[in-house]
Amino acid sequence: MVNVPELFGSAVFNEKVMKQRLPKDVFKAVQKTIEDGTPLDSSVATVVANAMKDWAIEKGATHYTHWFQPMTGITAEKHDSFISPVSNSEVIMEFKGKELIKGEPDASSFPSGGLRATFEARGYTTWDPTSFAFVKDGTLYIPTVFCSYTGEVLDKKTPLLRSMQVLDTQAKRILKLFGKTTTHVASQVGAEQEYFLVDKDLYNKRKDLIFTGRTILGSKPPKGQELEDHYFGNIKTRVSDYMRDLDEALWKLGIVAKTKHNEVAPAQHELAPLFNTSNVSTDQNQLIMEEMKRVAEKHNLVCLLHEKPFAGVNGSGKHNNWSFSAAGIGNLLDPGESPQDNSQFLLFLCAVIKAVDEHADLLRVSVASAGNDHRLGANEAPPAIVSIFLGEELTRVLECIENGVSFEKASKEQLELGVDLLPKFPKDTTDRNRTSPFAFTGNKFEFRMPGSSMSIACINYILNTIVADSLCQFADRLEGAKDFNKELAKLLKETISAHKRIIFNGNNYSDEWVAEAEKRGLYNLKSTVDALPTYISDENIALFEKYKILSGSEIRSRYEIIVETYSKIINIEALTMLDMAKRDILPAALKYSTYLAESVQTKAAIGGIDYETEKELAASISSLAGCLYKKIEKLDKVLIGAKDKEDILENARYYANEVFEAMQNVRAVADELETMVSAEYWPIPTYSDLLFSV
Ligand code: ADP
Ligand code: MG
Repeated sequence: MVNVPELFGSAVFNEKVMKQRLPKDVFKAVQKTIEDGTPLDSSVATVVANAMKDWAIEKGATHYTHWFQPMTGITAEKHDSFISPVSNSEVIMEFKGKELIKGEPDASSFPSGGLRATFEARGYTTWDPTSFAFVKDGTLYIPTVFCSYTGEVLDKKTPLLRSMQVLDTQAKRILKLFGKTTTHVASQVGAEQEYFLVDKDLYNKRKDLIFTGRTILGSKPPKGQELEDHYFGNIKTRVSDYMRDLDEALWKLGIVAKTKHNEVAPAQHELAPLFNTSNVSTDQNQLIMEEMKRVAEKHNLVCLLHEKPFAGVNGSGKHNNWSFSAAGIGNLLDPGESPQDNSQFLLFLCAVIKAVDEHADLLRVSVASAGNDHRLGANEAPPAIVSIFLGEELTRVLECIENGVSFEKASKEQLELGVDLLPKFPKDTTDRNRTSPFAFTGNKFEFRMPGSSMSIACINYILNTIVADSLCQFADRLEGAKDFNKELAKLLKETISAHKRIIFNGNNYSDEWVAEAEKRGLYNLKSTVDALPTYISDENIALFEKYKILSGSEIRSRYEIIVETYSKIINIEALTMLDMAKRDILPAALKYSTYLAESVQTKAAIGGIDYETEKELAASISSLAGCLYKKIEKLDKVLIGAKDKEDILENARYYANEVFEAMQNVRAVADELETMVSAEYWPIPTYSDLLFSV
């Protein structure tokens, strides 16, 4: 039996360890940096580095790495040993303050979207003390941010940290208006992570899983999720063994892995950690994804994090539960008890509503990827239309404010404060709508559009920034008001009127909603290629520049990376499909039809044996094989056409439309063949094998 409290955080250089191992003044300085972002003195860094190294060596570390999150969406690390020679026969273990603070990885092979030419290969990583260092596999991991020699941001964490600061500043301005002060306001995230588990031996037989993370061929199994027997179902021994190991690995890293259960699709599962500040949650989510994969290997399993590993079966997402909280005050999205708290809550709530309505395009962009295109709007995940679910009661409260009537009496009686007659909102009435992309769930918003394999950094810096922007506009107006309460009531009323179109409590999967959303003038950016251009619109660039989250050229570079990555992914998928179709599927079909034809011949030669079945089957399979061959030729041709598109967006569109369609056509025939060719002759594991193997 593991002693969980003892195991928890045992691989982390956390507050408890720092308190034990650092001199009091150094510990205080580090804490101040963590909480208020004050820069660390180099003498302090030296002491911290030394204590960190001694602790890490005790935990078996021989190396250290600056761990960072480049634009690939995953993490990067380069390991250096602590070894330092003191003579030609002796070494000591050394780790200097400056090595802790700053690293210099070669930046040339990370995507920069044209920000940095390869000859300017220098990049810097800088210690982010707000996320704890930890030991994993004999290496001390130091969370860092990553920028180029000339200071351009090359990673996903820098804008996130900046956005947290911006939200802190603006939220404090609002709190001040309510007569409250706090040392800091932090955005908080709890990211639920969905994943699939498949048997490794079967996985190894599927080139599509190996190269693309999803099956690009495969017909539906006889049984899918229709019996709804997997969701919250009994967890099988092999999976529960895996989950136990995973929990332990995560606890060791100080991640409060709390909930685990089977998901809707067969072989699909979910893990939810306890929420933390956005930047820590972002790091932890990366670690969760890495550990999910690593621990799977030990159980001869493979963890699939792709958004849509299996067509026709539920895909995987990542629910980003988000709120912001003030030290000493608490969660600012919590409705609270008194009228005063209520009005403050309503102001923060309205800030989110305004932000989501004004910047729905950015939220859509933040979740756009080739993988997520299979999910959004495909009748399972939320649709591509961004809207907010508030629940009936809260919606009615807002309606009353808009109409200037009291909620409880719903009469025409004019409200003085506008908000002082609000009821308490029972929390459990709000979390009923599973189809909403952005749902208020009592004291936080749950953004359900993110894909399972994505970094949550971008999602959260966009959320933080757009809400900070609303708060800034509110504060500008209220700070100058003669009568705060009156102005507040007016502001709430106007905000609700202007942005209520984004609120929708109905079924987000219905066709009526698509039509209704269009009437309301909401965005319906169906796919990645539709969504991406909005990223670099003048307003969006101005927004990021205003709050110094990213510069115009940094955003444009990010845009380029996403567009190009999109095309590259579809290209890899198409090439993989061609390889499988030409070298595995078509030969199998031909071989089986030859076998049938030979049977016909043998039976005919003997005489008196019926061979009509074989004959008919051989004919159908031969004809389908011929059709497959034509579709393959067409895909080959279409793919070559992608080469002449100079403009990157035009190229991506070509992949999204032409190439994707040609792929679908190959798939349709190949999947049909799968249902007809003998299992003995079929060269790759089927959906039934993959989904029901574990
Ligand atoms: P669901 O009902 O959607 O399955 P879960 O209980 O699995 O929800 O996950 C909810 C997630 O929300 C957890 O990660 C939890 O820690 C997180 N969470 C709870 N309160 C907050 C909050 N105030 N801010 C951000 N995240 C929160
Ligand atoms: Mg959820």
